[in-house]
Order: sequence, then structure tokens, then C-alpha cells
Amino acid sequence: MRKHYEVVIGLEVHVQLTTQTKIFCGCSTEFGNSPNSQTCPVCLGLPGALPVLNRQVVENAIMAGLATNCRIAPRSIFARKNYFYPDLPKGYQISQFELPICEHGHLMIETEAGGEKRIGITRIHMEEDAGKLLHSDDPGTGSRVDLNRACTPLLEVVSEPDMRSSDEAIAYLKKLRQIVMYLGVCDGNLEEGSFRCDANVSVRPWGQQEFGTRAELKNINSFRFIKEAIEYEIDRQIDIVEEGSKVVQETRLFDSNAGTTRSMRGKEEAHDYRYFPDPDLVPLVIDEAWIARVREGLPELPEAKTRRFVEDFRLPAYDAEVLTAERALAEYFEACAALHKDAKMCSNWIMGEVQRKLNDDGRSIVDCPVSPQLLCGVLTRISDNTISNKIAKTVFEEMWTSGKDADTIIDEKGLKQVTDTGAIEKMVDDVIAANPAQAQEFSEGKDKLLGFFVGQVMKSSKGKANPAMVNELLCKKLRDA
Ligand SMILES: [Zn+2]
Repeated sequence: MRKHYEVVIGLEVHVQLTTQTKIFCGCSTEFGNSPNSQTCPVCLGLPGALPVLNRQVVENAIMAGLATNCRIAPRSIFARKNYFYPDLPKGYQISQFELPICEHGHLMIETEAGGEKRIGITRIHMEEDAGKLLHSDDPGTGSRVDLNRACTPLLEVVSEPDMRSSDEAIAYLKKLRQIVMYLGVCDGNLEEGSFRCDANVSVRPWGQQEFGTRAELKNINSFRFIKEAIEYEIDRQIDIVEEGSKVVQETRLFDSNAGTTRSMRGKEEAHDYRYFPDPDLVPLVIDEAWIARVREGLPELPEAKTRRFVEDFRLPAYDAEVLTAERALAEYFEACAALHKDAKMCSNWIMGEVQRKLNDDGRSIVDCPVSPQLLCGVLTRISDNTISNKIAKTVFEEMWTSGKDADTIIDEKGLKQVTDTGAIEKMVDDVIAANPAQAQEFSEGKDKLLGFFVGQVMKSSKGKANPAMVNELLCKKLRDA
């Protein structure tokens, strides 16, 4: 049944900016301080207080616009979006409506089929966040409002309804999040609400030109839940259409415990908000020189970095993708590759041991206890045959907790690889002498037994014998035996 329908998804993402101060006043945006400690007449909405636009917010918006291929408007205006809610003391939110700062952009995503797909970005505009209501569970204590978040700067990024599956929606969101994090304008934290997504979902019979009626799914705080909410909504709408009923345009909430969505309220239209230009703020004029300056300061973006990693370091495309997923991870890799010439070896260790330990500890690369210098110390000792790859993992484990460098650990633990031919020869002779039956079978053609002998010698050397030398000596001696 589902295959007779086409899914149409458009996304609205609220990106909370990491500026130090709020968008229209000098109050701090720091998270987690005592309620209402970061407020002033402007963000409290007191009469007579006037907003002053934060220049950094404009720069961040231009950066986001350029990174998503938008046209930056030479003139944009702020508008009042009027509605009443206890966490909005002014009775209106300052946003942008008719003339947003960025328009006509796009992002490229990878689709399940493997190809690239272009997702249009209708607009990006600047606005202020509302405060936060705190509802107590104790009866009779009522609800309270914390206005520390009021007036915090947001970018709202509105996509075209170009996505055709929940997977495409997630691919778009991940790409957008990666870009704003690379730009350093947002910390990308979904759980804390720094990157919030509303999804407009509708279905239509294949071949139909006009869109079906959409439902808006509000504020879902993880990629998994966004996918589940969209999937549930698609099935729900198809069921309604199949029954011959009509989908109602409304806002729905996702219940992550039940995995379902439920109606929250009828969807407002723009005219319900009575938008009008904010008379307290002059139109924002951005000249070419300003845009050029911001463009100059843009960091290298993920796609360009991935390409460069393939070309400059000769990495497989897969490695380059993984290493550039996060800017800090890419920088860690580059620091390693500058110290150790075997870039593929650096990549293997970072994607393997480093990522595994980070996952185990629940840390991000920014808090990695092993610096690129320390890691390269281990890699150098593998390359010059001081230790085997296997022993290197032991050294790395020790390094992770003690912070000591590779040479110190190798010395202290006596892990240096045995490359002395005489010593290895002695171990090989002992092992062959101790296993005469196996030696006999080997000489009769049971080649598989070589592995057994290598294992025995490595064991008697506590893993420190040079494996290549062990192999060579064993072959020689067993054949002569
Ligand atoms: Zn303030």
C-alpha cells in the first residue's frame, strides 16, 4: 500500500548560535545559570527598552548562508511575530518575515541509492528565542518562567519540500548540523535544544502534482526519534487517505515512549501572527565588501576537506568521510599526519583504537587524553620495529590512562621487541624440541601447523619476538628438522 504513495518532507531547523551575548541586548547566553539571572529591560520586554542588533549574529547568519549556497540579501528587515505566551514577555517575537537575510540556497545529500541529491533551502532568517516555562510536579505550586533564554539568537533554516523519505530527511539534517558545527556557529547539541527540528510531512498518490495536506511534527530531540516520528506519521496519513478520509493540517507532538504522534493544536498560518516590520529596528544593509570579508574567513567545509584528504593523503574515500565527520577529528588526523608520514596508518589507528576508546569512555575527540604527539610516538615505534602492532595496542591502552609517552611505557614494561637472531633462534629450537610430534607432522606436509609453532614462540617471548623473524626461522628449522 505504501508504495502507491509519495512522501513529501520539508524541514525547519532552529539553530541556536554560540554568540556570547543575546541578539538584541548584552546579556550573557551561558547555559545552566540560576533562573532570570541573565536578563535586562530589553529581554524582559519592559516598556521603553530598545533592541540593538548583535553584529556577531549577522556575521554568523552570513556564514551559514554562504556555506549553504544562499544569496545574501543586501537589505533585510526584522518583523514582529505577534502571539501571546507566558514565556514571551513582549507579546511578540522579533523575527524576519518578508525579507530574510538568506534565500535560494541548497545542500547536497547522499541518498540510499548512492547518488547525490540536491535539497533546496528556501531561506535562513535570524530571530530571538523565547524563555522557558518550568512546570512543577507539586500540586499548588504553579508554573514559573525563566527568561535567561529569552532573546537568545537563533537561525531558522527552512528547506524546500524536497525530501522523499525519512532517510533523506536525516541525511539533510546531519549535513546541515555538520556545516553549522564546522562554522563554529552552533554546538549542534540536539538534546539540549541547540539544534531543533520541526518536520512538515505529507503524502500524495504517485503522479499527483499538488501536495497533500501536511502535518507539522514539533521539536524532536534526536535523529532516531525524528526518523521514528516521520515513519509513524507517513503510515498514519496513508491509513487516513486509504480510508477515504482527509488529513487535517495541524501541529503534532511525538511521544518517544509510545513511538506515536498526537495532535497538539491546529496549525497556524502566517497571517495569524499579524507580522509587521519592527519599528524599533532599522533595515539591515549588508554590502558586498562585508560579504567578501566573511567569505574570506570561512573555514574549509566538510566536502572540500574530504576531497583534499583523498587527494593529499591518498586516503580511501571511506576514511576521508569518517575523519571529516567532525572538524575536531579532522584536525586531530591532520596533526598526526604532519608528525607521522604514513597517513593511512594514522587513519587506521584513529578510526580504530582512538575511536573505540572514545566510545567506551563516552568522550569526544576534543577531550581525547592521547594527543596526536603521543599517538605518533606509538606509531613511530611500530614503524621502526621496536614493537609489534599487537604490543602497540597495549602501549596505547597504558598511555590512555597514564598519559606517559610510548618510549617511557616501552622501557618501564620491558616491551621492546626481540630482534636478536640468537635469542629468537633459541626460542624456536626450544619450541620445536618440546613438540616433536607436531614437528614430524609438519615435515610430512601438514603446513597448517606453522601457525601453531608461531603461536608457541610468540607465547614464550610474551609477544615480544619480531613476528617476521619468527616465521622465517621456524620455516627454515622445521624444514631442516
Ligand atoms: Zn537582556
